[in-house]
Amino acid sequence: MKKQKKLVVGNWKMNPQSLEEAKKLATSVKRAMRGIKKTNVVLCPPFIYLSSLSSSAGNSFFLGAQNANYEALGPFTGEVSFSELSQFKVDYVILGHSERRKMGESDELINKKIRAVVGGGMTAIICVGESVRDINGDFYNFIKQQITSALKDVSKKLLDQIVIAYEPIWAIGASAPVSPAELCEMSIFIKKVLKDLCGAFSGGIKVIYGGDADKVNADILVRDGNVSGLLVGRESLRAKDFIEIIKLVDAI
Ligand code: PEP
Repeated sequence: MKKQKKLVVGNWKMNPQSLEEAKKLATSVKRAMRGIKKTNVVLCPPFIYLSSLSSSAGNSFFLGAQNANYEALGPFTGEVSFSELSQFKVDYVILGHSERRKMGESDELINKKIRAVVGGGMTAIICVGESVRDINGDFYNFIKQQITSALKDVSKKLLDQIVIAYEPIWAIGASAPVSPAELCEMSIFIKKVLKDLCGAFSGGIKVIYGGDADKVNADILVRDGNVSGLLVGRESLRAKDFIEIIKLVDAI
């Protein structure tokens, strides 16, 4: 069986300051992609840069959005719909990021967005993660509930358009990631949850990790953590470091 490609996603959040910087960053990644064979790379800039970066996307890196409204169009001030994104070659959408959950997004709303995004032919990168790890292991139930709610009524035929990004909130923007051993346990648990929910169709769903991933820990997190790639925040804004991460993951 052909090995699935790995995945490295750069979540630029509300950065960089100018279109010029955004183009520079994307161009550096594009150049580096010439030597990358086994890894898909997704750049997720703010909405306002998507149109300018879309001409570079496709052959080297993929373009992702950081959010999408589940309605196709209508009176939703300040929102961008899933269907509007497709004209800018957007293939991925990050949904359920803890920073958006903190702004009030519920599991139910996130599920609606996921169904719209995959129904529209894009891949949903669904972020799940606990805020604290209790010694009783209740955080495992929390992750199970987040995944169950996210995948409610998602057509089994579309499950290969789902990526689960395990992002423990305590590791995002922090100075240490989860340990590879803890990540491996969580990865096994998430795959078991997916198997119970989706049966044989769960095989198409990638599990990746996010939370203080950098060029020092990228290799060990993916290799020993038993995940298919990384969701990278801060380090995706530094071209040299992000490219190093991509190369390390591609070499596994
Ligand atoms: C994130 O916010 O998704 C993230 C992984 O951030 P960082 O890599 O900066 O911890």
